[in-house]
Amino acid sequence: MPGRVASRYRASDPRASHAWDEPVTLVRNVDARRAEALAKLGVRTVGDLLSHYPFRYLDLSAVRPIRDVPLGTEATVVGTIADVRVKQPRPRLSITEIAVLDDSGVVVGVWFNQPYMAQRYEVGDRVAMAGTMELDYGLKQMKSPFLERLGASGAPIALGRILPVYRTTEGLSTNWLRRLVESAVLDFGDVPDALPAELRARRGLPPLKWALRAIHLPRSTEEIDVARRRLAYQEHFDLQLVVAARRQVRLATSAAVAHTVDGPRVRALRRAVPFALTDDQERAVAEILADMAAERPMNRMLLGDVGSGKTIVAAFALAAAADSGGQAAMMAPTEVLAEQYVRALGGMLDDAGVRWALLTGSTPRAERSRMLAEVSSGEIDVVFGTHALIQKDVRFARLTLAVVDEQHRFGVEQRLGLRSKGGGSTPDLLVMTATPIPRSLALTLYGDLDASYLRARPGSRGPGHVTTRIVPRTGRADAYERVREAVRAGRQAYVICALVEESDSAEARAATREAHRLQTSVFPDLRVGLLTGRMRPAEKRAVMEDFRAGKIDVLVSTTVVEVGVDVPNATVMIVENGERYGLAQLHQLRGRVGRGEHPGEFLVFADPKTEEGRRRMQAIAETTDGFALAEADLRLRGEGDIAGVRQSGLPTFKIASFSGQEDLLALAREDARGIVESDPALLSPVHGPLRARLAAFESALSVVDSG
Ligand code: ADP
Ligand code: MG
Repeated sequence: MPGRVASRYRASDPRASHAWDEPVTLVRNVDARRAEALAKLGVRTVGDLLSHYPFRYLDLSAVRPIRDVPLGTEATVVGTIADVRVKQPRPRLSITEIAVLDDSGVVVGVWFNQPYMAQRYEVGDRVAMAGTMELDYGLKQMKSPFLERLGASGAPIALGRILPVYRTTEGLSTNWLRRLVESAVLDFGDVPDALPAELRARRGLPPLKWALRAIHLPRSTEEIDVARRRLAYQEHFDLQLVVAARRQVRLATSAAVAHTVDGPRVRALRRAVPFALTDDQERAVAEILADMAAERPMNRMLLGDVGSGKTIVAAFALAAAADSGGQAAMMAPTEVLAEQYVRALGGMLDDAGVRWALLTGSTPRAERSRMLAEVSSGEIDVVFGTHALIQKDVRFARLTLAVVDEQHRFGVEQRLGLRSKGGGSTPDLLVMTATPIPRSLALTLYGDLDASYLRARPGSRGPGHVTTRIVPRTGRADAYERVREAVRAGRQAYVICALVEESDSAEARAATREAHRLQTSVFPDLRVGLLTGRMRPAEKRAVMEDFRAGKIDVLVSTTVVEVGVDVPNATVMIVENGERYGLAQLHQLRGRVGRGEHPGEFLVFADPKTEEGRRRMQAIAETTDGFALAEADLRLRGEGDIAGVRQSGLPTFKIASFSGQEDLLALAREDARGIVESDPALLSPVHGPLRARLAAFESALSVVDSG
């Protein structure tokens, strides 16, 4: 198949192979005005245009007479518009109907709530319509089909071709964009292929230039599939090469302290823990200690749902650092959480003979400087804290372990910042997260990390301990009654009202208003408290203390409680505007209730306006497994909306995906590792193009890292 391709290119233009990074104005017919329109699509170079892939195709090679299309099958029909009308059966529902007529019959395209369709088309337009043929009340119709005008009636059209359909923008018609891309492919599509020929042959991947031609100017639907696979592989491979190269560098260059892992403090800690560790916790502790005992630096991620008991696992690592004459730092994203470590672990560490301190932004100045002196002299073994830990003047005598909790809440610089405090050698790194990351993403984002999982929750608090309900507008009164009942039984409740994605101050205002409303008109007899991200740390602390002490019945909060708050007596949580949240975030919030002996209730006020939103609400109600939810989120919303991905700087794929391409990703990962292991510096001539690509990617992707 690839062999026949050459004929479609112009006699090899010498510029072709160099043009990828040149301005798009090099392409025929791209004048200043069109270049401006293209820029709005993110297309600035010839390469951008070549990789502006179609999002679908209009198959005019398989056009059929309307009469011949069997019901229930997908097809493209070509005809003339005979009628355009918009109906409004209900206030918030409009239905646009466009009837298309060919020599054999008529079919009606139907669109819901897209009244602009009626403005774009008029009677007499010659169009192609693609969709699934259905029969409704004796009339042939297609629901939400794809419709495209084919030029003035009678004008010759590209029948017989498979037309690419591109995302376009104002000032650039679909037809023009098609022509521009076609020019780019014909004149500049002969691009060099970075993938070694041997690898391509082994994986059955066509050359890049073939794939570019086939994706834009396909001659058959089979060609599209082959091209798609090749181009998606390339995107996965580029990322995996970065991950593999970093891993190689780390393995080759860094040495860490080989910790003593069965010293007196570790043993004393075992005796001090007031409960039995779960099997998962035992395994995680063993994996972590084994890494710490080794000379190469630990790079481990501890994944476990909220409440799975990660903190105590980390404590064993802290004790091992102290036993080895080293120091450890454990960093939390919020002061509330850092203080919780102290409450959870302080006493046990005291019993184990580990000297610890807490350093946050609110540590008084005098105390801070005394503490810094003790840290730099080595008198303190373990420092808990927030971002305050990575400030310049925090110096360690011998930092051998860095623990980063809720790691997705930190930027890379912050994670690296903590690790860089090790001075000469590389401290072991343990990152912890309650965000269950789908495996495909984990392999890319954290391809360099080993992972330990806590799946089972300690105690009897298994899934099902919390009931989830999606509450429609009409169910509010009932939900508030649930809160009242819980309080009557001595329990407490949260009301989360955050305007996800909006500013802190807008959130704070909304929460404040809601707290006022609840106190005055819903729960005048209960004690309503307020916690927002805008409050000063001391205020926040006071509110949390009051809530923990049972002096507040209903705590209205923005999402500051999302991370790690542990109040076992709180059993009900109401979330306002639930449809605005991602599944991972909802799942995290849900983890705040049902932490004690009493079952929890998670009530999501939601009014989803989209199908995707409805599915998301259904998923949270039906699924308690965090990993399954993460996979669902990835499927429903795409990687851009997965917690931690947006901040990660991961490039957005053009054609690859983290969902549904696990096999391709695994191949790319295996191949990238294989190449880097056999030729770490990519010095072999066949790897030359890869070396260049890696360099370009490395700089663009400073953030895909493992800490
Ligand atoms: P997370 O993984 O969300 O950070 P924590 O470490 O805060 O969870 O633990 C949640 C709660 O479970 C804490 O109150 C902790 O003391 C308790 N816990 C942890 N492990 C066990 C266990 N093995 N048995 C009983 N309770 C445990
Ligand atoms: Mg935690």
